[in-house]
Amino acid sequence: MKMKTLKVNNTLGIQRQKHLPERTCVACRGSKGKRDLIRLVSSPAGIEIDPKGKKPGRGVYLCACSVCWERGLKSNRIELGLRSKMSAENRRSLVDYGRSLPGKED
Ligand SMILES: [Zn+2]
Repeated sequence: MKMKTLKVNNTLGIQRQKHLPERTCVACRGSKGKRDLIRLVSSPAGIEIDPKGKKPGRGVYLCACSVCWERGLKSNRIELGLRSKMSAENRRSLVDYGRSLPGKED
């Protein structure tokens, strides 16, 4: 008598995903965990960086890389997303901040 080996085809394993909050970068539209993105909020003083992501109000997110900051600041996606305008000085300080970030990590 032959013993049949039953092969269990278990390729459809269910992946348990942790529910990490994901946000979308306004420049590249990539969605990432909050930790990989930098939040920008509109405040009475203009558009400012919110490193801890705790400031109240509307926020948009950008990847922590110079490429996305440059792209996001060149277009008006940040202003559109925040429904707010930034002054030339405000923009310059954000551009400077973006330049201090590393390049695109892949
Ligand atoms: Zn991005």
